[in-house]
Amino acid sequence: MIIIGAGFAGLAAGIYGRLNGYNTQIFEMHNQPGGLCTSWKRKGYTFDACVHWLVGSSPESPYNAIWRETGVASGSEFVYADEYCRCEGADGRTVIFYADIDRLESHLLALSPQDEDTIRKFIKGIRMCAAFDFPSDTEPLTVRLRKSVATFFTFMKYGKAFREWTKVTGEEFAGRFRDPLLREAFRELWIPEFSVVFLLFTFAWLHSRNAGYPIGGSMPMSQALEMRYRELGGILHYNKKVARILTSDGRATGIRLVDGTEIAASRVISAADGYSTLFNMLDGKYLDTKTREPYDKWPTFASLLFVSLGINRRFDEIPLTVSGITFPLREPVMIAGKMCGRLPVHIYNQDPSMAPEGKTAVTVMLESDYEYWKKLAEDRNIYVQKKDEIASQIIRLLEQRFPGIAEQTEVTDVATPLTFERYTGNWKGSFEGWLITPDNAYTMTKPMAQTVPGLKRFYMCGQWVEPGGGLPTSIMSGRRLIKQICREDGKRFLSKDKKQ
Ligand SMILES: Cc1cc2nc3c(=O)[nH]c(=O)nc-3n(C[C@H](O)[C@H](O)[C@H](O)COP(=O)(O)OP(=O)(O)OC[C@H]3O[C@@H](n4cnc5c(N)ncnc54)[C@H](O)[C@@H]3O)c2cc1C
Repeated sequence: MIIIGAGFAGLAAGIYGRLNGYNTQIFEMHNQPGGLCTSWKRKGYTFDACVHWLVGSSPESPYNAIWRETGVASGSEFVYADEYCRCEGADGRTVIFYADIDRLESHLLALSPQDEDTIRKFIKGIRMCAAFDFPSDTEPLTVRLRKSVATFFTFMKYGKAFREWTKVTGEEFAGRFRDPLLREAFRELWIPEFSVVFLLFTFAWLHSRNAGYPIGGSMPMSQALEMRYRELGGILHYNKKVARILTSDGRATGIRLVDGTEIAASRVISAADGYSTLFNMLDGKYLDTKTREPYDKWPTFASLLFVSLGINRRFDEIPLTVSGITFPLREPVMIAGKMCGRLPVHIYNQDPSMAPEGKTAVTVMLESDYEYWKKLAEDRNIYVQKKDEIASQIIRLLEQRFPGIAEQTEVTDVATPLTFERYTGNWKGSFEGWLITPDNAYTMTKPMAQTVPGLKRFYMCGQWVEPGGGLPTSIMSGRRLIKQICREDGKRFLSKDKKQ
């Protein structure tokens, strides 16, 4: 079995493949594991490009079983920040999105009594999501049966409200607030087209302390997955980019690498980017309307301008948050062709391991236009110069909120949508695949196919066949796929090592 890509989904497919007795080889174009779940080191600082929260960090969560099966959570220490994020207003007020629902409710009500109806509805929505305790196939049959019955009754109670929430987008929900700061804060909080129901689930998980931040960040998790895979006897090749998926008589028969080497296989799984898999590696030959639809119609998570800074100071006065703070700029400015009125900044004071003693890693993550960077990069010098300019611009803007920071900055690093594309192959540098919108919310109950029409023995897993993306989803995707393959082969699916 050949697996393309050693991101979370590819490594998960490898791990569950090995657990079920398949000979697996992963071909990864980069020289390290994890795909998007990554970080990089610069002069003693670690800049993390991924994990803010890991759903399933609570040992009681069914997701946690998956983390244990794959070895990701082994030995991880989790931090549970009291605040998801804060949005500072130009009028001196600050909206704090507390992880605790009761605290969040009273804070929002105190800030804007005129928005009581919308606030109460939002909190009720979070409580509704908290009430769902979906059965997971990691649990014993008796638990699954009990949970299925309970979920049925929860749906009876909340089904209508749940369906309604899936149709509400971030933009639409933010527009319901009368208070301009709350409107702005909710706009900052969630992606405009993304269904708000996921925001509700996120808060439900934060409240129940089931979405912690793992100390050490992304890379140790990716390395743990690689280790588990290798311990199970899996083979992993780095610096091997796959150019083609070979086919014959309607079956996948192997792969061809960019260096021309061909490797035969009885099954091929792509856990790499969906667009390049279907349109390049398979030449666009195995598409029907349904397979093509997402690529024609569905919006993707944006591509990012990701500025990392190593700051020679501590930020003890800034509370720990899951995803940072945003502050208003004195006046709107153009950053890489986009007008910005405020700046989001994530101070990594929740994880001292990210910086040398007494210093702090800081990141600024902005949506950025892929085409803008693609055009700039036609001239490498201009591209590099623009990245330098952006680093200086961001530092100048941070001075407005953190006076003196320019002097304290000792490391800068700028990643653009092209960086994300180069290192992970993701389409237009998207950082999480498909957004879930009212148009494709049905995939929450009816998952996308992991096969393509007209091609046997070929499969896909990962964020491009799991709208909403994310680390747990990618692992589940690899697991779901191997389960399906076991079913095809008439085998009982195993999720644990026989020795365990
Ligand atoms: C800034 C940021 C913040 C995030 N925050 C969170 C968070 O807090 N919580 C969370 O759960 N998720 C988060 N995510 C999302 C999460 O990282 C992704 O959804 C998940 O890692 C996707 O995993 P994947 O295996 O499906 O895809 P990828 O990680 O993209 O893996 C695909 C792999 O395939 C390889 N590949 C591609 N093409 C080829 C080829 N031709 N040949 C060989 N190899 C190839 C790539 O190099 C890569 O290793 C975040 C992502 C980013 C970027």
